[in-house]
Amino acid sequence: MVRQNVSVLLRAKRLFQQFLVDAYCKIETERLQFLRREQKALCADCYQDLRDAIVDGDGDPSNVGRRIILPSTFTGGPRYMHERQQDAMTYVRKYVHPDLFITMTCNPNWPEIKNSLLPGQEPKDRPDLVARVFRLKIKKMLEMLKTDMIFGKPQVWLYSVEWQKRGLPHAHFLVWLIPEHKITPDKIDDIVCAEIPDLAIDPDLHQIVMSNMVHGPCGSINPTSPCMEHGHCSKKYPKPFISETQQGTDSYPMYRRRNPEDGGQVSTITMNVRGSRCTQDIDNRWVVPYNKFLLRALNCHCNVELCMSINSIKYVLKYVHKGCDQATFALRSNQVDEISEYQNARYISSREAAWRILEFPIHERFPTVQQLAVHLENGQRVYFTEDTARDQA
Ligand SMILES: [Zn+2]
Repeated sequence: MVRQNVSVLLRAKRLFQQFLVDAYCKIETERLQFLRREQKALCADCYQDLRDAIVDGDGDPSNVGRRIILPSTFTGGPRYMHERQQDAMTYVRKYVHPDLFITMTCNPNWPEIKNSLLPGQEPKDRPDLVARVFRLKIKKMLEMLKTDMIFGKPQVWLYSVEWQKRGLPHAHFLVWLIPEHKITPDKIDDIVCAEIPDLAIDPDLHQIVMSNMVHGPCGSINPTSPCMEHGHCSKKYPKPFISETQQGTDSYPMYRRRNPEDGGQVSTITMNVRGSRCTQDIDNRWVVPYNKFLLRALNCHCNVELCMSINSIKYVLKYVHKGCDQATFALRSNQVDEISEYQNARYISSREAAWRILEFPIHERFPTVQQLAVHLENGQRVYFTEDTARDQA
């Protein structure tokens, strides 16, 4: 917490980052150790499997339920992520595909962050500030979606927060609108734009788009860009020029990107290629689709895509719920131990640590999904310990 008197911790720069990661590792390890200690209480299996194991198997109850389970109540674990993904599929079953897929990335140059830094600090020295401001921006986004209804009245929404290894935190939102407010093809241009705004007409928006919504550049100009795979941009930039928005061949529309001869804007950006600064002319082919209103309100990278069919939904849901970054894999023992598997591969950045220490949610949604247990004959859940396994069977 920021206090009146001088805090050594908040001025410790890299040591503060280390402190946050260490502190969160302790918190998470303690939670995992609790789950490991309480495995006996988790020794649940379906009745049929337990009976098969005791009656038809080797009959040694100590081998039944020896799997070490990381239950779905553990936030961020694989079972937790799987459940969220299944819940999202429930929305798809009831409300068909979502209408909007929005990705919002934290901007370390937000004035709210810069104005709160102590003298001589950069945003990377204060993951706590970055987390607080990003949390507020997510709340602002939800307010715009739910209360201001900038796209129409939503009937379902969900979002997940994610951290990449060295990257900034970002949030993926999925929004389903009520049937009366569904986005019709003639409304697409009002909602999503993929062009550079005219500097003379709207200088503020022009500046926000040029600093946040230009992809790369990659390709021959910058072959070391992180998006490059086998000599091509994995995000398929530069996109072709199109004079009018078209319903695309896959489930996304192709947004209007006018050619400079056709009235499209061209602007110059300064970029870093292999450590040296150079300037590059950018036209509409490099613009990531955005919504003017959201972009102006949030002033960060905020990509808005329309989903027009069910095809992309599995990919989107996997993407939204793919879980935390994993750094190493070390699987040695024969016994399935989900807790060790999770811990061995866990990668925690100082930004994620700050977010989790402050107890901010990594997932929220509306409406609630309630899971009902359905089972086959003799498939009911039984709880047992080594001593009671034989009686239960
Ligand atoms: Zn690229």
